[in-house]
Amino acid sequence: MALIVHKYGGTSMGSTERIKNVAKRVAKWARAGHQMVVVPSAMSGETNRLLGLAKELASGSLGSTHDRELDMLASTGEQASSALLAIALQAEGVPSVSYAGWQVSVRTDSAFTKARIESIDDARVRADLAAGKVVVITGFQGVDDNGNITTLGRGGSDTSAVAIAAAMKAAECLIYTDVDGVYTTDPRVEPDARRLATVSFEEMLEMASLGSKVLQIRSVEFAGKYKVPLRVLSSFTPWDIDINEEAKSGTLITFEEDENMEQAVVSGIAFNRDEAKISVLGVPDTPGIAYHILGAVADANIEVDVIIQNLSKDGKTDFSFTVNRNEFAKAMDLLKSKVMPTLGAAEIVGDTKICKVSIVGIGMRSHVGVASKMFRVLSEEGINIQMISTSEIKTSVVIDEKYMELAVRALHKAFDLDQPTP
Ligand code: ADP
Ligand code: ASP
Ligand code: MG
Repeated sequence: MALIVHKYGGTSMGSTERIKNVAKRVAKWARAGHQMVVVPSAMSGETNRLLGLAKELASGSLGSTHDRELDMLASTGEQASSALLAIALQAEGVPSVSYAGWQVSVRTDSAFTKARIESIDDARVRADLAAGKVVVITGFQGVDDNGNITTLGRGGSDTSAVAIAAAMKAAECLIYTDVDGVYTTDPRVEPDARRLATVSFEEMLEMASLGSKVLQIRSVEFAGKYKVPLRVLSSFTPWDIDINEEAKSGTLITFEEDENMEQAVVSGIAFNRDEAKISVLGVPDTPGIAYHILGAVADANIEVDVIIQNLSKDGKTDFSFTVNRNEFAKAMDLLKSKVMPTLGAAEIVGDTKICKVSIVGIGMRSHVGVASKMFRVLSEEGINIQMISTSEIKTSVVIDEKYMELAVRALHKAFDLDQPTP
């Protein structure tokens, strides 16, 4: 008998039929004696639909001036699905109440469209649980100190669920989705991908940050910080499967490394098609150049990922970095209007048709030659590497987007990820 948080993603909540199934599954857990908090996403496609409407109405393109209203708008998707789930639970004979983030309240900062959770007041939720109700709380959203509704970035319901589990010291946070766990790579790109029974927190953090959208990065950060037991599992198993079997299914995120266990050198492959590359060509190779360019970008609240500066020739150098594709136009405008005139750069070129492919594994710490094997595999496929970035447990390359699937599949095979672990 424990406090458990369930999170259901958009596909899992995608129709009234599916919401009924979610309600039946949650009812099973409640009847087994658990206190249940459920965090649903908007029904699949709904967030995109809402944002599409906004785009239609905004003259020109959406900019930061629209951010507050976008949050006001997008948060309604989760509000609708939460109310529907509470109704479905009541129809199952389970007392239930739904709350929007601001009603709980889930407090965030004021960074509209990518707000961070700062605190959660769980008094109301605890009172409902004590009264025997299942509490449904909207994913993806919160409220800032001025009472504005905020959202947590795409995929943010994962973070809502883990943050609520952390705040309430839940026994476990179960993330129900449309695949039955975390795989060696996205099973939609590599059909031979294998489900991992466990994945270390550090590997999950890298995979999420490198583009495996099965968990939003911030949810993994929360889980690590507050040691929230976290599991990813399927919402498409029959709702009435044995609860003990269900509780052990999927992928468990683990926090302790098993010293005796031989770590796989590479555990997974992540890819990200959401980035774009910007190159500032012919900049004077003098101290302060990186700051001059990237400082301006950071001041505009644009996140930068991979960065390279080329060897200088005749006192000039080329400087390249990647940003999120959504922020590409904004970054290019800024560089052209504010940075170029004072920098004396020859040219700025952009490329939105790139992708980043990464190999991730704790075992990379103690093995040499992993990155060079990656480079060899890509060269054998005739894939040109444009940028490279490494850390202790990952190597990432930026390549032409059209080779993404080929690169993922070739690396998956070369690192034996399609083979069962011994
Ligand atoms: P939800 O709506 O449940 O939040 P998401 O679409 O956000 O679901 O995340 C689940 C999807 O993540 C899967 O359908 C799969 O295509 C994708 N994915 C990417 N990388 C992985 C991976 N390594 N393991 C499992 N799924 C992955
Ligand atoms: N509905 C939001 C999105 O589509 C949040 C989520 O699904 O986690 O990004
Ligand atoms: Mg998601």
